Amino acid sequence: RSEPIVAGGKHIVVVGGGDTASDCVGTAFRQGAVKVTQLDIRPQPPEKEDKLAVWPFWATKMRTSSSQAEGAVREFQVATLEFVGDEDGNLTGVKCCQVDDRRKPIAGTEFIIKSDLAFIAIGFRGPFTGSVLKDLGDKLSLNTDRRGSTNVVANERDYRTSVDKLWTAGDVRRGQSLVVWAIREGRQAARAIDETLMGSTVLPR
Ligand SMILES: Cc1cc2nc3c(=O)[nH]c(=O)nc-3n(C[C@H](O)[C@H](O)[C@H](O)COP(=O)(O)OP(=O)(O)OC[C@H]3O[C@@H](n4cnc5c(N)ncnc54)[C@H](O)[C@@H]3O)c2cc1C
Repeated sequence: RSEPIVAGGKHIVVVGGGDTASDCVGTAFRQGAVKVTQLDIRPQPPEKEDKLAVWPFWATKMRTSSSQAEGAVREFQVATLEFVGDEDGNLTGVKCCQVDDRRKPIAGTEFIIKSDLAFIAIGFRGPFTGSVLKDLGDKLSLNTDRRGSTNVVANERDYRTSVDKLWTAGDVRRGQSLVVWAIREGRQAARAIDETLMGSTVLPR
């Protein structure tokens, strides 16, 4: 049984500037982290949005989530170069550098942030393809796509996959999404499964 990963008493680095990174920051503080540093490769947005300057693109402005407000140190325009460790392979720091407007490292700006635990929150990688999905793909030709990550192919009508009597719903089908979609797809898939197994049904009012 593996040890739980906890942030209590540790220096934490969170790589990424999105909502998931914010969740990591908040959770780390809940667990009693000593210090939490969040790295965002994007430039620091202005305090006030300037719609005309960036039109037709979405105007961003500096936002601070409730978890960031608890005291996270936020570094902007920073790339992660390397995880630094001791001889036993334990993390001791994260080597970073400043980047230019094209996100290219700026020579001579490297610095190391002390860190005992780092979280990488830079995008949904898709369902884990190592075990069940690989088995089903190898043995039963389960169809997957390459929409950014590897998702299982099924339509939104009956949620059937390419394998007989195998249905799928939620993030594994549509890619990274929201809870409301997972609930909707789960309910619709359940109905489609029920119809297949039990025949057409009339839902109770
Ligand atoms: C950090 C983070 C923050 C998020 N915040 C929000 C938010 O604020 N609002 C929002 O709407 N959405 C949010 N999301 C997205 C939301 O969590 C997902 O869209 C949603 O959970 C998808 O539901 P799901 O049932 O498809 O998949 P999951 O919730 O991922 O459930 C899949 C389940 O399958 C299990 N599983 C995997 N492999 C196997 C196996 N071989 N055998 C048995 N079980 C297995 C997993 O353990 C897991 O419990 C967030 C996601 C993350 C990662």
